[in-house]
Amino acid sequence: MAINIWKEERSTMDILVESRRSGQVAGMLHEREIPYSVAVGDVNILLEREQGCSTSRHSARSLKRTSVTARRAMDWKNYHRLDVIYAFLDSLVEEYPYLCTVSVIGKSAEGRDIRMLKISNGNEDNSGVWLDGSIHAREWISAAVVTYIADRVVRNFNEQPDTVTNKDWFIVPVMNPDGYEYTHTHDRMWRKNRAKYGECVGVDLNRNFSYGWGEKGEEGSSEDPGNIFFRGPEPFSEPETRAVRKAIVDSGTTFKVFLSFHSYGEVIIFPWGYTGDPCPDYVELLEGGTAMAKAIYETNGHTYKVGSTKDLMYFAAGTSTDWSYAVANIPYSYMVELRGKKHRFLLPKDEILSTAVEVLNGVLRLMEFVDRRCRGTQSNCSCPK
Ligand SMILES: [Zn+2]
Repeated sequence: MAINIWKEERSTMDILVESRRSGQVAGMLHEREIPYSVAVGDVNILLEREQGCSTSRHSARSLKRTSVTARRAMDWKNYHRLDVIYAFLDSLVEEYPYLCTVSVIGKSAEGRDIRMLKISNGNEDNSGVWLDGSIHAREWISAAVVTYIADRVVRNFNEQPDTVTNKDWFIVPVMNPDGYEYTHTHDRMWRKNRAKYGECVGVDLNRNFSYGWGEKGEEGSSEDPGNIFFRGPEPFSEPETRAVRKAIVDSGTTFKVFLSFHSYGEVIIFPWGYTGDPCPDYVELLEGGTAMAKAIYETNGHTYKVGSTKDLMYFAAGTSTDWSYAVANIPYSYMVELRGKKHRFLLPKDEILSTAVEVLNGVLRLMEFVDRRCRGTQSNCSCPK
């Protein structure tokens, strides 16, 4: 692929261009009087930093070899393959069987397990919190952050405040396992799942949920299977999105919080994405997001912006958060775009831990906020929905 879209905002776009095409693309932009600048001269240099290589540059081929042979234990000093992440979930169950269970909520298009960790003290009055990462394959930091939150909640469970222990935590660190593995073995910049549609591969899973699906035409998603924002032939056409829907609907839990982690951009966004109108709980969601952003800022001084999807980013139709808010009735539904501004998707591995710590603090602050707004149990809850 000559051009790979990294990010679109209201009036700007980040694209990756193959070096042999860069002159041609620059010429096209110049001809159309579209202003542009080069943000990253050579992505290979960022790839090296993401992997923490201090030696001279290596090609995509040697990167592949490195990650295939690496069989590390879980930590937050490196990015990990799916098997390491899944072994980590199993180890939590082994060590904390009275708190943790792991289930397979579905199979990916290529047949991989989609695994979910549930953390619960078994209290029937608990409300639910959903966390997912790597719905978009190349956003590696999201899986790292979500596993870190799981690790901290479980290992410190007895020291956690009530606002943490009175929740059942449903955690899917890698929602798109096929795509995630593909970014380790073939194409670091892959976004979609790996479902085949004719000659084309992949649905953008965050355009495949039902609420507002297909709205705003090609601005909100794409009907073209070759497009990076392909919405799929119908809502929930993909096994990965169906697995999430089923896990939430069948859980028997009243969820109050839904958090889907992405990168990059350092923003906390909420519905709607399919329209520019504010959602009914716009002010409430703005306050909850701000509570999270404040805790993040207090940790490391990183400023995350807060606002609706369309206001801060673009039209995005068929997102998981529009669905979780409108259909699953989860009042505090957010998408968090993690670091980083400078390195885009290729956040250096020495920033994993500090990113995870600040976001954990943000999530814990949101739990306090939610419980302050809604002290009651499920049965007498008075929060927005
Ligand atoms: Zn994303």
